[in-house]
Amino acid sequence: YFENNNLLVKKNFFLDNHHHHGANIAKQLIGDALRQRVENIDHESCDPGDEDTFFVGDLGEVYRQHMRWKRNLPRVKPFYAVKCNPDPKVLQLLAALGTGFDCASKTEIEQVLSMGIDPSRIIYAQPCKTNSYVRYVANQGVKQMTFDNADELRKIAKLYPDAELFLRILTDDSSSLCRLSLKFGASLDATDDLLALAKELGLNVVGVSFHVGSGASDPLAFLKAVQDAQVVFKQASAHGFDLRTLDVGGGFSGDSFEDMARVLGEALDEYFPPHISIIAEPGRYYVSSAFTIACNIIARRTIENPVTGETSYMVYVNDGLYGNFSSIMFDHQHPIAKVLRTNERTFYNSPLADGVSADAGIEYSIWGPTCDGIDRITESIRFDHELNVGDWVYFEDMGAYTKCSATKFNGFSDAHDVIYVCSEPGARALLGL
Ligand code: PLP
Repeated sequence: YFENNNLLVKKNFFLDNHHHHGANIAKQLIGDALRQRVENIDHESCDPGDEDTFFVGDLGEVYRQHMRWKRNLPRVKPFYAVKCNPDPKVLQLLAALGTGFDCASKTEIEQVLSMGIDPSRIIYAQPCKTNSYVRYVANQGVKQMTFDNADELRKIAKLYPDAELFLRILTDDSSSLCRLSLKFGASLDATDDLLALAKELGLNVVGVSFHVGSGASDPLAFLKAVQDAQVVFKQASAHGFDLRTLDVGGGFSGDSFEDMARVLGEALDEYFPPHISIIAEPGRYYVSSAFTIACNIIARRTIENPVTGETSYMVYVNDGLYGNFSSIMFDHQHPIAKVLRTNERTFYNSPLADGVSADAGIEYSIWGPTCDGIDRITESIRFDHELNVGDWVYFEDMGAYTKCSATKFNGFSDAHDVIYVCSEPGARALLGL
């Protein structure tokens, strides 16, 4: 291994690597990085913070997701939703891959601009914006932004009349994990009046946007939204606007991506002629599977069941719902603990490493480090050997809506190390590794 800018890469590891081998190589690299870090901690004498929770981020996985996007949705240009995980290396890689960026605030826009990204590669996709942020983007030349109500149009007319506006419409988000249409999106009853007002105010409406809800599971939500968007394109044309772009938002996930992409792609080709550009705002899709988190067991409580005589344990780890597991609360996730086997090369392939089902093994509940009883990661999981204070567990698929919504409650840090690995040579080349 060599360490380069905190990037841990195994040299010459990729000699006969093909894309479909990438995921297996990733497991090996991530496992090695987890073990190496943990084995370097002297748990008997380390300083406070040395045994803190940490991430391993595989930039190769982000790269693979991008290639998968291009294969399945060649017509749609992704604008990565920075809010999902503003990790600087992820942004750097996506910038090199040529994506755009969906930003929700001044800080996110500033972070992207500071990387030298052209303002035209940013969409300020927040229908209800802070006045001073609108003045900021006007100064920076970030023109593309969304709106969904009349007050916002008047705000933009006053502060940034040259902005390029996307009218965000309501969707059926009932199949999604995080519903957004409760808060944002103009209904089709309102769009005609909004377009009339935009015309009257002399504003520049250039497209329509929607979001089917984050963690969407019904591909038909995309079909309906594309159909509705086409109606609004026609309304806009009747008001004298020449819309050029449709923004299909986020909501994609790794599991169901091909199904969604097929339905969306077919709908786009049916309802939108080729001269209309299509963009999207995927967040979760790009990063969820790219990050693994490791947590240290800091305390344990033994529970004897007086009836069955069975012994179970409550284990307390150094991260929880107020930290990177905020995704349990806000993003309705159910992260699954696996045991990190150190000093043993095969833990990933060992069935012993995963939870065991039914009545086998020893039952554990897993709790976060804060004072609050809500701070529980797992109600019940079984492993077939005994976990002790000082042992480590890890959780995969922890890249989306985790670190970004962590708090410092109880004085625990929200700034945890990321060890980067890169399981794809293409990504390494782009990052100059
Ligand atoms: N765009 C907007 C406007 C959003 O609000 C969100 C998430 O809340 C996203 C994009 C990213 O969504 P996802 O992570 O589901 O792709």
